[in-house]
Amino acid sequence: MMQVKVGDCILEIVKGDITEQDTEAIVNAANEALIPGGGVDGAIHRKGGPEILEELRSKYKGCPTGNAVITGGGKLKAKFVIHAVGPVYKGGNRGEAELLKKTYESALKLALEHGISSISFPAISTGAYRFPLEEAAKIAISTVIEFIKKHNSPKLVRFVLWTDDAYQTFSQVTKEISPNLS
Ligand code: ADP
Repeated sequence: MMQVKVGDCILEIVKGDITEQDTEAIVNAANEALIPGGGVDGAIHRKGGPEILEELRSKYKGCPTGNAVITGGGKLKAKFVIHAVGPVYKGGNRGEAELLKKTYESALKLALEHGISSISFPAISTGAYRFPLEEAAKIAISTVIEFIKKHNSPKLVRFVLWTDDAYQTFSQVTKEISPNLS
């Protein structure tokens, strides 16, 4: 576990399961159709129960890459799920980096609009969508820090990494970036 202070806020890096987090919101690595898939998405719908999908179906037609939508958390500990659609990695020359940054920003903006003060993120796009881990970590961490500095919110942002490799990479990138924080 690793914690860094950013102004009045805290950035946390933990190894674990996103569906077990007690933050006010958790972020889902969703797809454009907002139809439950594998990975994080499958785990969230399994544990949260059918009401999350019912709410998605009733409110949204889908969600373009880089954007996000919000539902309740169903049976999860988290009150909200923010469904954010990261880019599929196709070699790196198709705007993937900008789209991944936009995905994190969209999720954080929704959190701000809903007065959410604590949120957990998975490593969006690094599973089935094959985004290289280190580049994804740099984008994720720097985008979150930039947002927190600007808005002084959310008070807690937790990255929840599933694999040792992802946990080590996110921790290392945070160590490299955090000395520059004032
Ligand atoms: P994407 O389609 O955006 O790549 P995935 O869900 O396939 O999304 O994977 C995103 C990341 O989440 C991967 O690094 C994967 O190892 C990780 N992951 C899978 N299950 C969980 C879980 N229960 N909690 C947190 N992270 C998870």
